[in-house]
Amino acid sequence: MSAAEAARLQTLLTALRLPTIKRLWGDIAEQSDREGWPAVRLLAALLELEVADREQRRIARHLDQAKLPVGKRLSEFDFKAIPMVSAAHVEALSSGDRWLAAGQNLLFFGPPGVGKTHLAAALGRALVENGYRVLFSRTTDMVQRLQSARQELNLPNLLEKLDRFDLLILDDLSYVEKDQAETSVLFELISTRYERRSLLITANQPFGEWNRVFPDPAMTIAAIDRLVHHATIFEMNVESYRRRQAVETNKRSRGKQEG
Ligand code: ADP
Ligand code: MG
Repeated sequence: MSAAEAARLQTLLTALRLPTIKRLWGDIAEQSDREGWPAVRLLAALLELEVADREQRRIARHLDQAKLPVGKRLSEFDFKAIPMVSAAHVEALSSGDRWLAAGQNLLFFGPPGVGKTHLAAALGRALVENGYRVLFSRTTDMVQRLQSARQELNLPNLLEKLDRFDLLILDDLSYVEKDQAETSVLFELISTRYERRSLLITANQPFGEWNRVFPDPAMTIAAIDRLVHHATIFEMNVESYRRRQAVETNKRSRGKQEG
C-alpha cells in the first residue's frame, strides 16, 4: 500500500468516525497479509474491534454522566453485615431488565451508616456497566435543580432530560426541607416517572415521617402511593457499619494490649 493510499484510508475512517479501526488497521492488515486471511475475516476482525470499543466508550460516558460516588462497588459491600438484604437479590436487580423496563422502584430505609448510599451507588454502577443509564444525586441537589428549572419555566424540559435515565437515585430523601414550593417539584418528578421510569430512594425514616417531607398530607399520601405501588423495599435496620467497625478495631487493639 502506498503512503497516499494509507492517508486516504485515514481520511475515510475519520469521516466515518471509526477511531478504533483508524488506530488499529495497520497492524491488523499486516497480520492479515502475513497469515493470508480471507477478506471477510479481516473485515469482521476490524468491525468487531470497533464495536467492542464503542461499547466501552459508551459505558465510560454513562459512568461519567451517572455522577456516582467514587469507590462504592458491590464487590466491596459486605452482605453479611446486613442479613435482610441478600446478595443474590441485589445481583438479580443489577441485571436490570424487568424492573427497569416496568418502571419499578427501589426504596432503602434505615438509620445512618448502614450502607444505604453505598448499596445504591454500587447497584447504580453495576447497572451502568450492564448498559443502563443511571443518575445519582442527593435529594436536596435534585430538588434544587428542579426548583431552579421551574423558576426559569424550564421544568418540563428538565423532566424530559431526566427521562433518558433508566434509573434516578435520590439519596437521603429525609433531608429535604419542608417547603411548599420545593417539595412539590419532587412530587412532580415522582408523578412523571410513575409506572414508566424507575426511582431508587434512600431515606432514614420510613413513611411515618414523610409528612415532614411533602407540603401537605394529601400530597404525602399520593407520593407514597405512587412510590410503593411497584416497589421493592429494603428495611436496613442494623447497627451502623462504621460504628461496628470502630468497635471491632477497638476490641482488637484492646485485645492486643491485654494479650
Ligand atoms: P448510609 O447511607 O446508610 O448512611 P453509607 O452507605 O454512607 O451509609 O455507609 C457508611 C460507610 O460504611 C461507607 O463508607 C460505606 O462504604 C460503609 N459501609 C456501610 N455498610 C457497608 C457494608 N455492608 N459493607 C461494606 N461497607 C459498608
Ligand atoms: Mg447515605
